[in-house]
Amino acid sequence: MAPPAKPTRKRKSARKRAPSVKAVKARGACLCGTVRFEAKLDRDHGDACHCSQCRRWSGNYWASVNVDLKSLKFLKGASDLSWFRSSDLVRRGFCRTCGSALFWHADRHKDYGHRIALALGALDAPTGVRISEHIFVADKGDYYDIKDGLPQKERY
Ligand SMILES: [Zn+2]
Ligand SMILES: [Zn+2]
Repeated sequence: MAPPAKPTRKRKSARKRAPSVKAVKARGACLCGTVRFEAKLDRDHGDACHCSQCRRWSGNYWASVNVDLKSLKFLKGASDLSWFRSSDLVRRGFCRTCGSALFWHADRHKDYGHRIALALGALDAPTGVRISEHIFVADKGDYYDIKDGLPQKERY
């Protein structure tokens, strides 16, 4: 996920449409299995963020899906989760033991704090989610190409 901007009309309408997608439960875990969580998926699309922060943090680009923060429940390992504040508005959650990047959360953003991004790579299959766009491609690494035909946004 990218650092959030001021809300736009487009984003607002996208959020309004979300409840029409049947909510399904997603489960996920870190690599060592210490942190396990579940959350309600109210959309079937995620995005891939190619910004330099996400690439450093995740080791490549960051693919995630946004869910309602209230729907996120820890099945185990909540106290083994650490948060790194990567910007004034954003914190990133990872397993203290194995380092898996799990959550991106704009917790201090008044319009986005109620949503949290789950790492798609951490979810159990089948996720039921597809990446629908690439964001911050202006920042992408020089070691790969994006050739899947999905929309690419310079920023977000
Ligand atoms: Zn990013
Ligand atoms: Zn772990």
